[in-house]
Amino acid sequence: MAGCQPHEKVSSATTATPAPAMKSESKPAESATAVTPEKVVKTEAEWRAQLTPAQYRVLREAGTERAFGEAYEEFKKQGGGTYYCAGCGAELFSSKEKFDSHCGWPSFYDPANAKNVKTKVDVSFGSVRTEVLCAVCDGHLGHVFTGEGFNTPTDKRYCINGVSLKFVPADEVKK
Ligand SMILES: [Zn+2]
Repeated sequence: MAGCQPHEKVSSATTATPAPAMKSESKPAESATAVTPEKVVKTEAEWRAQLTPAQYRVLREAGTERAFGEAYEEFKKQGGGTYYCAGCGAELFSSKEKFDSHCGWPSFYDPANAKNVKTKVDVSFGSVRTEVLCAVCDGHLGHVFTGEGFNTPTDKRYCINGVSLKFVPADEVKK
């Protein structure tokens, strides 16, 4: 299955929505036991001062970086390691759950630290999608798609903007 949908309203995304089998996007069981992380709350000005314009647009304004962009090229080259939120530093994903979806954005089949990742139904732009956010700072990360037929353990694709992630290689994590 191709199922390679852009995860933002791009003007070319007109009518023919191939609405992939909408499996229930209900919360995974682990969130029931997860402890709510301590929130990071900042003003808009503080975020603007801290983030690059590209990061600000994604994390704070729910923007989407262009497909196959610079962050994605870097992502493809990265080896083993951990991905943290570029806004607040919360642990989000790991290279263990990374896979190549050929979609032009970093893809993971599962969050590494589920309690730091939350989802929300996003009904903007005439389609129902599940938005992925950092649970600590409420930063927008991307969207999660289910049932696309990827050969992964979860059949989910966390389609994440590369600029919203901060990568730390495995050998540096240990220090
Ligand atoms: Zn965050």
